[in-house]
Amino acid sequence: MSATASAAPARDRIDAVYAEVVRRSPAEQEFHQAAREVLDSLAPVLAARPELAEAALVERVCEPERQVLFRVPWQDDAGRTHVNRGFRVEFNSALGPYKGGLRFHPSVSLSVVKFLGFEQIFKNALTGLGIGGGKGGSDFDPHGRSDAEVMRFCQSFMTELYRHIGESTDVPAGDIGVGGREIGYLFGQYRRITNRWEAGVLTGKGLSWGGSAGRTEATGYGNVLFAAEMLRVRGEDLPGQQVVVSGSGNVALYTVEKLHELGARALTVSDSGGYVVDDKGIDLDLLKQIKEVERGRVKDYAERRGTSATYVAGGNVWEVPADVALPSATQNELDIADALALVRGGVKAVSEGANMPVTPSAVKVFQDAGVAFGPGKAANAGGVAVSALEMRQNSGRDSWPRERVESELAAVMRDIHEVCRNTAERYGAPGDYVMGANIAGFERVAEAMLAQGVV
Ligand code: GLU
Repeated sequence: MSATASAAPARDRIDAVYAEVVRRSPAEQEFHQAAREVLDSLAPVLAARPELAEAALVERVCEPERQVLFRVPWQDDAGRTHVNRGFRVEFNSALGPYKGGLRFHPSVSLSVVKFLGFEQIFKNALTGLGIGGGKGGSDFDPHGRSDAEVMRFCQSFMTELYRHIGESTDVPAGDIGVGGREIGYLFGQYRRITNRWEAGVLTGKGLSWGGSAGRTEATGYGNVLFAAEMLRVRGEDLPGQQVVVSGSGNVALYTVEKLHELGARALTVSDSGGYVVDDKGIDLDLLKQIKEVERGRVKDYAERRGTSATYVAGGNVWEVPADVALPSATQNELDIADALALVRGGVKAVSEGANMPVTPSAVKVFQDAGVAFGPGKAANAGGVAVSALEMRQNSGRDSWPRERVESELAAVMRDIHEVCRNTAERYGAPGDYVMGANIAGFERVAEAMLAQGVV
């Protein structure tokens, strides 16, 4: 490969693409950050493969195929009317139907949805399961809302969204603030409006009505498997390692579960109020009761757990020294000072369970210190991978046993790790999983786009 010969013009081209992204969408900081990170990996690809540069594939991949913004009016239990904004960004369908979750959180904006949709293109490509990239959501805050309010919101949201989605068009799922309850209400309204039992239109469904075994657990499980692979190729083992986990949503919970199953110890979980450190390791039954049944806070966990657990109000989970760190809360939750603290504490591997939780300067700290770093688009792809397996089961009106789903998930995570590692090596950056994931994901999408012409 003659990657270096024309690297300078390729880099100029990448800078021009980035400048155009910023010019076109000036206020979208999160999207700029996600785009910059991918673009920074692509100069050697353009230098080595002029056919991809000629077809303007980098330019095209940065522009969503379609963006839908809509009003979501709904009434609370007291009869007051609220108005939220709904989003669905259909970013790229070269490899399959648009696929990606819905996020309900007050921080959701077009910029956040575009950053997530952009990441999803490459993540989904890495799974090898024939899914395009998209994302959606709303600035609606489900916290403190009754089930009836959440249902009315979901029904109103779907009353617009239904016309844009379909099992062969666009297949949403959950993300922050959207779990089994919300998917149920969304599916019910889709079925009612369309008069179709179209199981494959949403993933993350309940097990008795088209859901896949293992979907709930898949993102957290997958990230632990990815971290274990990164350790294995360095001659280390996951069992016995002390692990800091942030967040206490679906990803964090099942990260803790898999860590314990594999003999590592999860020391922490957190929420926006603070974190819990538990010297004996997080008691998952108690945490699940508080989070999944009572919809409570991690503070409640510390109060009920006894002496091994301490709650640190307003504290930052990254101050707890550990061998492995698995950020599983939200974007930009781990910055440069946190990375320096983790490195001082002797961290060996960091793997992103959430989407873009580690800031670019913190990633650099880890890479410079020789810490193995697994980017989310590779490490947290297990969730969407099992979503794709759910779609497969739905199209065959089939339902697989949990063991089959789990062994396919493990194979997908091993493959992703392998392809990222090999690609990084092929492009002269051994051990750089960020380069590997970005390039391998981009190459798959770009090759499909090239073959399908200028569309
Ligand atoms: N929200 C998840 C993600 O970030 C899963 C999306 C899906 O299953 O479609 O990948």
